[in-house]
Amino acid sequence: MKSERTLREEMIRFSHLCYERHLLVAMDGNLSCVLPNGDILCTQAGCHKGLLTDEHLVVIDRQGKKLRGRGNPTSEMAMHLACYQERPDCKAIVHAHPPLAIAFTIADQSLAQCVLPEVVLTLGTVPTVAYETTGTKGLADALRPYVRNHDAVLMDRHGAVTLGTSLLDAFCKLETLEHTAKITATARSLGGIKTLPPDEAVALRSMGLKRYGGPPSAVAKADSPGADLPQACLICDGCSDPSHKGLAAPTGVSAVRVKGPGLDQVRKVVMEEVLAALKGEA
Ligand SMILES: [Zn+2]
Repeated sequence: MKSERTLREEMIRFSHLCYERHLLVAMDGNLSCVLPNGDILCTQAGCHKGLLTDEHLVVIDRQGKKLRGRGNPTSEMAMHLACYQERPDCKAIVHAHPPLAIAFTIADQSLAQCVLPEVVLTLGTVPTVAYETTGTKGLADALRPYVRNHDAVLMDRHGAVTLGTSLLDAFCKLETLEHTAKITATARSLGGIKTLPPDEAVALRSMGLKRYGGPPSAVAKADSPGADLPQACLICDGCSDPSHKGLAAPTGVSAVRVKGPGLDQVRKVVMEEVLAALKGEA
């Protein structure tokens, strides 16, 4: 367990890195981590992360009550507290406003796609939480089901939250998320993206959860069909639907990885749907 002194130094270093790596600007974003006694060290409300010093750090308890430090804790603390409540394994959280990843949410394009093998391996898919006003309990509550199963989550028109076993871990996930958005946007501008074949995505995710860990609920699914990937990824040839939830259009078929007779069933349902639609048009 790292000392409070070391954790304070890390908070300063990673706040500066968030700014230097263009993951936030001005007074955006906030960071927090769990102290050895279980209290939470967080950034002060309204401070510049690129200029952050030890004076801008505040200690609060698990209910959000300020215990030590100058000024107020970040106004988005409810979000951090909800994450720590849902994920006892989480020891640090970074919330930033990575510009390319946010642009994906504004364009209603999903980052919950299996495109880059390394990302599927280490992070899985990145879902987007529907819009809620920043700093509210509504946003904190909306995040809960997502962070239970994911270490990196996007919030519509707002930013990203990444959870880690350390500040370095949470920061790496944030960088990976923004890097993925950059590569995906570049590929789209060059003509389109090719998603990983579903079998490969499933094998990579299963391997990654066992090798690198992840949310306990996801690790528990490492050996189940499709691991923790969205079901929609597993019945189409790559998850090509760019809706903000990253789920393919409903087919009326709820299935995990479909093979053999199951696949015939899907074909039959699709064919029936197509024939019914054609009849309707005639
Ligand atoms: Zn924010």
